[in-house]
Amino acid sequence: MTAPSSEPAPTQASAAANTPPASAPAISATTPTPASSAPTPSPGPTTPSPTSDDAAGRFVARSAVVTAVELGKSWHTGCPVGPAQLRTVTLTYWGFDNAPHTGHLVVAASVVPAVIKIFAALFTEHFPIRSVQPTADFGGSDDASMAHDNTSGFNCRYAVAPGAPRWSAHAYGKAIDVNTIENPYLEGGKVLPPQGAPYLKRTPYQLGMAVANGQLVRAFAIAGWQWGGRWTSSPDYQHFSADGG
Ligand SMILES: [Zn+2]
Repeated sequence: MTAPSSEPAPTQASAAANTPPASAPAISATTPTPASSAPTPSPGPTTPSPTSDDAAGRFVARSAVVTAVELGKSWHTGCPVGPAQLRTVTLTYWGFDNAPHTGHLVVAASVVPAVIKIFAALFTEHFPIRSVQPTADFGGSDDASMAHDNTSGFNCRYAVAPGAPRWSAHAYGKAIDVNTIENPYLEGGKVLPPQGAPYLKRTPYQLGMAVANGQLVRAFAIAGWQWGGRWTSSPDYQHFSADGG
């Protein structure tokens, strides 16, 4: 995806590069008054404050409009919502490597405040998340995204459940799948993704899992989102949705 990937990746390098201008030797005691008239080196116009904060270990999030081009194969004409109703939320998340990372989540504009609240809580609690990339990065393939243990929101696709085709809550940008391997979806005896099979056994608790009253389920519940793990016949442990679907 173009917009997210254009962000400078090496956080340490950019943070270090931003510091030198502050230590200007012109502030020596010999020139007290003219200091204000001295040509102040303008701070670089491209100061990626979110990544700097990310490197400092603080939660930051910002939301931006998203275009049809950026949505790639995750969107097409005829989908229930258009790009204008969606946003890309760039946010920090806590990784399994015990360090902060920056991810990109595409969701409905209407749920952005809730999503930021949820992920702020998860970051504060250091709940580990493997990867947060738009499904466009996987060519709109839910299977590919799940196999990557990826956490994602919007994807214009039908629900996996059998019966007449109906749009998934993901097609509205109102559902998020989290840590798809640690939290598989058991549908009609099939484990999705197949790599999640070892995690069908939900006890003992393992890092990244969604369990009743656990950090993940609670963070979403506080924002009023419901968990797919409550569907006992076909539990979708990775799935959280704003409208319960
Ligand atoms: Zn889902």
